Amino acid sequence: MKRSFLFYVSVLGTILLTQAQRISYKDAQAQQQVIDRYNSEWALQQAYVVLVGIDGFRFDYAKKYGAEHIQRLGDSGVKSERLLPSFPSKTFPNHYTIVTGLLPGNHGLVGNSFYSRSRQAWYHVWDREAVRDSSWYAGVPLWVLAEEQGMLSASFFWVGAESPVRGVKPTYNYAYDGSMPNEYRLRQVLDWLRLPEARRPHMMAVYFSLVDDVGHKYGPDHPKTGEAVLKVDSLIGDFMDSLNQLNLPVHVVLVSDHGMSAISHGIVLPEVVDLDDAQVSYSFPPMIYQPDSTKRLKLYDQLLQVPNMNVYTRKNIPEYLSFKNNDRIGDFILVTDAPTIILEKPMPVTGGTHGFNPYTDENMGAIFYATGPKLKSGLEMPPVENIHIYPFIAQLLGLTISEPIDGNLNALEILLKQD
Ligand code: AMP
Ligand code: ZN
Ligand code: ZN
Repeated sequence: MKRSFLFYVSVLGTILLTQAQRISYKDAQAQQQVIDRYNSEWALQQAYVVLVGIDGFRFDYAKKYGAEHIQRLGDSGVKSERLLPSFPSKTFPNHYTIVTGLLPGNHGLVGNSFYSRSRQAWYHVWDREAVRDSSWYAGVPLWVLAEEQGMLSASFFWVGAESPVRGVKPTYNYAYDGSMPNEYRLRQVLDWLRLPEARRPHMMAVYFSLVDDVGHKYGPDHPKTGEAVLKVDSLIGDFMDSLNQLNLPVHVVLVSDHGMSAISHGIVLPEVVDLDDAQVSYSFPPMIYQPDSTKRLKLYDQLLQVPNMNVYTRKNIPEYLSFKNNDRIGDFILVTDAPTIILEKPMPVTGGTHGFNPYTDENMGAIFYATGPKLKSGLEMPPVENIHIYPFIAQLLGLTISEPIDGNLNALEILLKQD
């Protein structure tokens, strides 16, 4: 009796969940569309690219947690042992690097939170107005490159797409809403691919945060993180099955922005130095802005005394981190190694995070898997930097790169089939 009651509760739960998803699915029909754009005759002849970004998917997760669909995608196509994030290994800098081919110092998003001296203003990922203000963003994102060359594009939550960079947004676009069901996102990509050719986007970008969310909360080694990996893996598996039935020349490029390290110690910054009136970005790694040079020198002395913390100035930050931007990088950048992080106030330090040096912490390594008609099969390459993805995708789409970038097609050219 008890069992059958539970059975009905669970059936009812499933029905309610399906209803809830349906409502969100319907809501999602309110996607933003530019209705008077069409693919040019030239664009109609080009291939398609679906760029899938899985936030915080560490380089070893697919194998570690047995994500069979993702592994199959890489095995049947191409992959890199590890995708090296740009410094700092945070979400906004790296997602925007992937779609611009520029280092964070050059595209302008030098952190998830940072200050601009010239504008005397802050950029924060949670500040919707700043996120939508194109004057914060440099570079030519892939969707802008496509649209400027007569090819339609679409984004489902990719960083930067809510802002009209160079006056252009993707033809199909969504305002960020983290509560959007994950199931809906790749379903929307399939719907885009089923549109009439003239209105069908060729460059599509879609974003998932679930693996990063759980990785922060529980850490990279927790079974919950494994569950999130398998959840996204099953979404990818279903997507690839449906995609195969469409019979279109589609390339799927699966990437992440960074990995995840377990954390267990915190340095509470205001307890170890006198910050006075300095402004601090407590994103990771923290950056301190102190325009008064006398106070700055005093603070520098104190920062240098703090154990287990590297202090870089804007000018002496190691060359190999390629982190340069005089307007936006703090006077001091505070870099620790896992499992230590820097905090604004005391709090328990558990779970995981990222933002560590991607060249010394292997756990910051991200993923790069790709498959499609223009790509070789079964090729695995050594670790590669994420600045090179932009010219690689531009090549798959037949787009001409219109402005100087930091990436180079040479780095990933080996993955392309010879014509
Ligand atoms: P972090 O782990 O701090 O680098 O940032 C990850 C978080 O960024 C995710 O959990 C999302 O909530 C948030 N995020 C990702 N993309 C966007 C976006 N396009 N707009 C606003 N927030 C975003
Ligand atoms: Zn991220
Ligand atoms: Zn994160």
